[in-house]
Amino acid sequence: MDVVVVGAGIAGLSCARALADGGARVRVVERGRVVGGRLASKRYDGRYADIGAAYLVADDPDFAAQVAGWETTGLARPWTDTFRVYPGGRDATGPVRWAAPGGLRSLAADLAAGLDVRLSAPLDAVPADADAVVLAMPGPQALRLAPPPGIAAAAKAQAWRAVIAAVLRYPVREWNDLRGAFVNDHPVLATICDDGDRRGDGAPVLVAHSTPELAGRYLDAPEAAGPILAGAVGEVLGLSAQPEVHVHRWAFAQPEGGDDPYAVDGRVWLCGDAFGRPRVQTAWLSGRAVAHALLG
Ligand SMILES: Cc1cc2nc3c(=O)[nH]c(=O)nc-3n(C[C@H](O)[C@H](O)[C@H](O)COP(=O)(O)OP(=O)(O)OC[C@H]3O[C@@H](n4cnc5c(N)ncnc54)[C@H](O)[C@@H]3O)c2cc1C
Repeated sequence: MDVVVVGAGIAGLSCARALADGGARVRVVERGRVVGGRLASKRYDGRYADIGAAYLVADDPDFAAQVAGWETTGLARPWTDTFRVYPGGRDATGPVRWAAPGGLRSLAADLAAGLDVRLSAPLDAVPADADAVVLAMPGPQALRLAPPPGIAAAAKAQAWRAVIAAVLRYPVREWNDLRGAFVNDHPVLATICDDGDRRGDGAPVLVAHSTPELAGRYLDAPEAAGPILAGAVGEVLGLSAQPEVHVHRWAFAQPEGGDDPYAVDGRVWLCGDAFGRPRVQTAWLSGRAVAHALLG
């Protein structure tokens, strides 16, 4: 069986990995210059910061086994079960959040190792030369490939929120014991993560994620949202120093989750984090479920 997986995010890579392990011939085609998709780490002056997913939660036994494997090889580490909640600034305990010392994209790179992955290769149509094609991406991106009606319907049914991420590089760490924070009812700011703490190098770097409202207003000019997010973080945490700011726009950041594990119409499949709760774990499970269905 020849399979083309379009998209080298975590869904596409978990699909391709399981297909290859099951004996299928699989080729992954990715428009970006690197693998990972929204599992994204970008380098600033030689240091990676996580600009997409902030952390992993692994409460599915199979994904937990995958994460445990990454822990054994030193790629992932349990980061924290405690986030601060604003307004108020009290600590709240939740699930263990996992981080990656080398940046979360290193986990995608690990899955991609040994696979046939073609980078910088954007597709504008569903490939004709394969027994099966797996579109491993947000539905709105899949629609650009003119997929068959069943896939188009599933893609159109997805609802997505945008996020602008701001990487804030400070001269010194002015905050103590932060890890991460959920900022509720704020007009522009949704979360703050201590990138130095989660990566384990103590760098004075925070990553802020905007509310969908702010992202919606600045999607066409995301740079202008940078100072707004930096100002909001400074105000919430009481920081005096001015950071160097870099922004990244995610037009399709987080979906409202559906119940099915994937969609299929003939030889074309659609998977990703829209098939469940909007998480890395969901994307990994969705891609793997497609692989198992194809192999079965
Ligand atoms: C700001 C932000 C914060 C988040 N925080 C968390 C978090 O804390 N915890 C968590 O679990 N999850 C979080 N998420 C969600 C998590 O990142 C996603 O659930 C997961 O990475 C989705 O993986 P995916 O493979 O389904 O999609 P993607 O990662 O989007 O992969 C799709 C891939 O397809 C490629 N592609 C698209 N169109 C084409 C084309 N035409 N041709 C070729 N390639 C194409 C894209 O370039 C991309 O690489 C966050 C996401 C964002 C954006």
